[in-house]
Amino acid sequence: MAVTKKSDLHTDAPLWSATPHISVRTHARPVRSRYDVVIVGAGISGALMASALADGTRSVMVIDRREPVGGSSLASTAMIQHEIDVPLSELVKKIGARDAARVWSRSMDSVARLADRVREAGISCAFQHKKTLFLSGDEMGWRALKDEAELRAGNGFEAAFIDGAALREKYGIERTGAVLTSCSASANPAQMTAGFLRHAARNGAELVRKCEVAEVGAGQGGVTLILADGAKIEAGKVVFCTGYEFLKRLARLDHETVSTWAIATPPATAHPGWLDDFLVWEASEPYLYLRTTPDGRIIAGGEDEADEKAHLDKSKLRRKADVIAGKASALLGIPKPDIDYCWAGPFGVTPDGLPIIGPVPGLEGVFTVMGFGGNGITFSQIASELIAAAIDGKTDPDAGLFGTRGRDAPHSAA
Ligand SMILES: Cc1cc2nc3c(=O)[nH]c(=O)nc-3n(C[C@H](O)[C@H](O)[C@H](O)COP(=O)(O)OP(=O)(O)OC[C@H]3O[C@@H](n4cnc5c(N)ncnc54)[C@H](O)[C@@H]3O)c2cc1C
Repeated sequence: MAVTKKSDLHTDAPLWSATPHISVRTHARPVRSRYDVVIVGAGISGALMASALADGTRSVMVIDRREPVGGSSLASTAMIQHEIDVPLSELVKKIGARDAARVWSRSMDSVARLADRVREAGISCAFQHKKTLFLSGDEMGWRALKDEAELRAGNGFEAAFIDGAALREKYGIERTGAVLTSCSASANPAQMTAGFLRHAARNGAELVRKCEVAEVGAGQGGVTLILADGAKIEAGKVVFCTGYEFLKRLARLDHETVSTWAIATPPATAHPGWLDDFLVWEASEPYLYLRTTPDGRIIAGGEDEADEKAHLDKSKLRRKADVIAGKASALLGIPKPDIDYCWAGPFGVTPDGLPIIGPVPGLEGVFTVMGFGGNGITFSQIASELIAAAIDGKTDPDAGLFGTRGRDAPHSAA
C-alpha cells in the first residue's frame, strides 16, 4: 500500500521520451537513514524543489517510485504560461479582486524567475520566451476577452485586446478576438527536469530511483517515512512533489483528475512563421492549444474528458489525435499535419485553476505540491519558492493564496 495515489501518468511514448539528456545518475537505495529534507517525486516539481533546497550544507534526498522524469513531466506539452487556466475576470469572482491580482502577479514573476534559474543553472532544454494569444471561443466571446484584457491592464499586467479584423490580418486566424500578452515560455520539460535534478545533485542532493514511499508519520522529532521494502527513513522535513499521484489523505480536497491528449507533428511541419514566437490557446470547452518547437514541430493538445481513465483507451488516442490535428489545421489555415507522436495522460484541475501548495494538515513538517492545471510548470516554480522559504523558516506573503486551507468548501469572494 502506498501513501500516494497510483496512476498511469502517461501513455507509452510522449515526444520527449525520444529526446537526449533526460536521464540522471541515481542510487538504487537511500545511502543514509536520516536527511534534513526528503523530496518525494522526481518530476519538475521535485527537481525545482531539490535545486532550490540543495545548498551543500543540508542533506537532501529525492526519491521516486519510477525512474526520475518518468511521471507527468514527461507528458507535458510545456507551455510555460503566466496566464492561469481561469481568466482573471473569473478568478476575481472566486477569490476576490485583491487575491486574484496577487495570484496573477506571482504567476508572471515566476515565469521570469524560472527563466533566470534555467540560465543560471546552465540547463540546455530549448527554453524559449514566448508571447501568448488567448483566442475567443464558445466559453468567452470577443466582448468578454476585451473586458479581460482591460481588467488585466488595469491591474498593471501587460495585455492587449486584438479584434477579429486584426487577428485575420496579422495572424490569418478567423476568430472574433484575442488577448495578446508576452512573458510566457516553452521548453523541453524532460530536459528541464533532468537539468534541475543534475543541478541539485551537483549541490549534494542524493537521487534515488524506483523506491516507493509507503507510509508517512510525523512526530516531535521529525518525519518518518517507511519505504515499500520496509526500510525506515527519518527526515526533518518531507515534501510530497507527487503530482497527480497526490497523498491519499488529500483526495477529499476540491480537485479532480481528468484525461487529456496531445500530439507532435514531424520536424519542419509547414506553419505560419509568427507561431514560433507564440503559445496559442482558446476559451473553448473542450479547448485546443498549440505551440512549435525549435525544429519546427507543432505541439498541440486538449480534448479533455472528465473521466480520469479515458486516456488509457488506445482507440480513443488515435481518434483524439486526429481531431487535434484537424483543429490545428483549421485554426492555422494549413494542410492537416501528419502526427509523429501522440500521447495522453491524467491532468489535475481545480475550480479556481490554482494549485495546492503548502503544509499537509495533521502532519507536522510535511508539505505537498499539487501543481494542477495547464500551467503546472509555473506552479512548480511557485511551489519551490514558497516551500523553500517555509523550510528556511521564512514566511512568503503569498503562501496563504495556495494552501490547503479553505479547500474543503468552495471559495468565497473577499
Ligand atoms: C498531456 C499533458 C500536457 C500538459 N501540458 C502542460 C503544459 O503545456 N504546461 C504546463 O505547465 N503543464 C502541463 N501539464 C501539466 C504538467 O505536466 C504537470 O503539472 C507537471 O508535470 C507535474 O509535475 P510533478 O513533478 O508535480 O509531477 P510528476 O512529473 O508526475 O512527478 C511526480 C513523481 O512522483 C512520483 N511518486 C508518486 N508517488 C510516489 C511515492 N509514494 N513514492 C515515490 N515516488 C512517488 C511519481 O513516480 C512521479 O515520478 C500537462 C500534463 C499532461 C498530462
